[in-house]
Amino acid sequence: MRLRITPATFRRVGNEKEQFKILIVDDRPDNLVALRALLAELKHTVIEANSGKEALRILLQGEIDLILLDVNMPVMDGFETARLIRQRTPASALPILFVSAREPSAADIKQGYSLGAVDYITKPVVPEVLRAKVSALLDLQHRSKLLEKAVQERSAELATLNERAARLRESMGELEAFSYSVSHDLRSPVRAIQGFAQTLDEEEGAKLSADGKDYLRRIISSSQRLDKMITDVLAYSRMDVEPMTRTRLEVEPLVLAVIEQNPNLQSPRAEIELQRPLLNAVGHEASFTQCISNLLGNAVKFVAPGVIPRVKIWTEAVNGAVRICLKDNGIGIAPEHQQRIFQAFERLNTDYEGTGFGLAITRQAVQRMGGEFGVESEPGKGSLFWIELPKA
Ligand code: ADP
Repeated sequence: MRLRITPATFRRVGNEKEQFKILIVDDRPDNLVALRALLAELKHTVIEANSGKEALRILLQGEIDLILLDVNMPVMDGFETARLIRQRTPASALPILFVSAREPSAADIKQGYSLGAVDYITKPVVPEVLRAKVSALLDLQHRSKLLEKAVQERSAELATLNERAARLRESMGELEAFSYSVSHDLRSPVRAIQGFAQTLDEEEGAKLSADGKDYLRRIISSSQRLDKMITDVLAYSRMDVEPMTRTRLEVEPLVLAVIEQNPNLQSPRAEIELQRPLLNAVGHEASFTQCISNLLGNAVKFVAPGVIPRVKIWTEAVNGAVRICLKDNGIGIAPEHQQRIFQAFERLNTDYEGTGFGLAITRQAVQRMGGEFGVESEPGKGSLFWIELPKA
């Protein structure tokens, strides 16, 4: 059963008639009788002890919720008894209410509190005051036990959750290792198909019929596509395991390097405009380059036929972070698809080449760099992809 501590729980506790065990300790039988009579109205179980020694013996036998302890007793006085009790039971588990024949002095109070006494009451005892103090202490005691129980339950739940998370991490690690080795092993036969098909085209292509040439072309392009998929799966499965050291990212030169290395990102195939200066960030350089390359690749790919891709890149300072924005003039993305495109294998439009891994890799990389990744888009009005990373 789950126990939740709420204000309602406390109210319920206060209203319920709980049975508690009160130990009254006094060397004088008439005092014990009087205390018992005064407490009768509260309808708790009252146990008597006529000495400190007897009190300790009773405490060993079972759980007591509150002790009313006479300060002035022969042989072992109240303070000595309290000291021995505290050696075994902390104040949080067992409150002590000292009953004293005179107003306690400052020294008494100091000594009492150092022994974990919760309160004092002086003789002659005023019945209402005694009952009010006892009820308040028992109520507090009960609440603290409830809290303790709740904390224990929460800790047990937390331990179970941690255990589950560890098991999950283990199976994810195994899955990653599995996909890594499968992809790795797939790569060489695919490369062989690609290589032999290309050699066949170059050396024997002239002897083939038009149909034969077409089949060969399809073999080559399919094996290239498979090779790209394997590369992406490898990058995706490696992303979580490879160490990622974060350094200062010189955003502008890194973006320019991506553009320079890819003719599809250059004029006349595409117009990419940087709104300088670009703010610098903190992240992992290779992963950041991979993210920009994926986003720019998509931005120039997903345009309507005949449209020259135009991309604007700028940065904004947002709450101690740097937001790197890429706005394209592409086909846009409907709101209902804007979340699922970040999952692996998700592609909205098969008219365009792709593996469905680019955004999943980017999301994972940004997450590992401690950043955020998002999109704003409308069909026909282009898309704005942004990455937020800590400021340099
Ligand atoms: P891929 O580009 O290999 O298909 P991604 O994971 O990079 O895979 O993208 C997933 C899908 O999100 C794409 O197939 C496409 O439908 C959509 N998408 C991504 N970027 C854009 C963009 N700039 N404009 C329009 N659609 C996009």
